[in-house]
Amino acid sequence: MHQVEIILNEEIAQGIYLLRLRADKVAESANPGQFLHVKCTKGPHPLLRRPFGIADAQRKEGTSDIIYRVVGEGTSILSQKRPGEVLDIMGPLGRGFPSPPPGTLPLIVGGGVGVAPLLFLAKELSKVAGLEGRAFLGFSSARETFGM
Ligand SMILES: Cc1cc2nc3c(=O)[nH]c(=O)nc-3n(C[C@H](O)[C@H](O)[C@H](O)COP(=O)(O)OP(=O)(O)OC[C@H]3O[C@@H](n4cnc5c(N)ncnc54)[C@H](O)[C@@H]3O)c2cc1C
Repeated sequence: MHQVEIILNEEIAQGIYLLRLRADKVAESANPGQFLHVKCTKGPHPLLRRPFGIADAQRKEGTSDIIYRVVGEGTSILSQKRPGEVLDIMGPLGRGFPSPPPGTLPLIVGGGVGVAPLLFLAKELSKVAGLEGRAFLGFSSARETFGM
């Protein structure tokens, strides 16, 4: 568990927020496809953490992003958080996406808020592995489109 500072939390498309955290341990070690388990309040309610895929890790800056859609209580509370506030997170968790074999052309397919971890994957494939893939992304409306 880490206590991390919120750097920004802004609406980037209708009902969809980008949350940037000062989380150097996450930024250092995160792999595309892994997720953070976020406690949305300091108190006991809602009790359970909410999982969100890691949408980017700025390794030099020691910051990490998640992108979330407001659907219920936890994400509504999260959307009210302001820069400077502190969140309790666990992670990075999960195994992440497998690496494509060298010399292959990765095709990335996703839709809606499920695109969030694919942005991190596309960046890492291009910058780290030097692979130029193709992305096929779907959104239910222009107002809900992000990451293009
Ligand atoms: C491994 C993992 C990674 C995830 N990554 C992301 C991510 O990167 N970005 C993201 O936005 N979400 C992601 N999710 C989904 C996210 O965890 C949930 O949307 C979130 O926990 C909802 O919390 P809440 O308290 O706002 O909603 P709740 O109060 O728990 O639910 C309120 C209502 O919304 C419905 N609901 C819950 N989740 C969704 C949903 N995803 N779509 C439509 N209706 C829903 C519930 O059935 C319920 O009726 C991920 C889930 C998993 C398991």
